[in-house]
Order: sequence, then structure tokens, then C-alpha cells
Amino acid sequence: MICNKCNGQKYYESSDGKFKQRCPKCLGNGELDWVESVLGAKESDLEKEFEKRRKIQEEKWEQEIVKIQSKLKEYAEQHPEEKENIEKLIKNIRIY
Ligand SMILES: [Zn+2]
Repeated sequence: MICNKCNGQKYYESSDGKFKQRCPKCLGNGELDWVESVLGAKESDLEKEFEKRRKIQEEKWEQEIVKIQSKLKEYAEQHPEEKENIEKLIKNIRIY
């Protein structure tokens, strides 16, 4: 049966519409069997492990970005003529 929390959409948007969140009831399956419809879907060990590793990886990237940003800031301090360009760069750092 179709998940009654997300209406089978698998994800739903946050109230400000900025990001999509995986449905916590069906865990992104969109459908539930009758046991799951009462108890909610259970995440498999594999999914749990995957999620854990993804979070660790994200934290590493986050730390990496902070390091790069602080190096760029140092550089900008020493090269005031480049400061504006470097500040733009710092703002636009993204890791996908
Ligand atoms: Zn759902």
C-alpha cells in the first residue's frame, strides 16, 4: 500500500521548500506492506551502514572546506589586491 505519510512521494520538502527529506516512515520506498504501515519501514543494516559512512564522509568534506577557506583567507591577507576575488572564491566553494 502507498505510504500515508508521503503519499508515495518517497520524499517530502521541508516547510521552507529548501530541501527534500527522505520520508521517515517508508524510508524512501513510497510503499509499505501492512506490517510496515503499522510499525514503519525498517532500515536494513546495509542502509544503516551506508548512511553512517555518508555522514562521516560529509564531515570530512566539511573539515576540508574549512581548511581550504582558512588558507585562502591567509593568502588574501597577504595579497590585498586579490582580496575581492579570493572572497568570492571562498563563498563559492562547494563539494558535490
Ligand atoms: Zn513515505
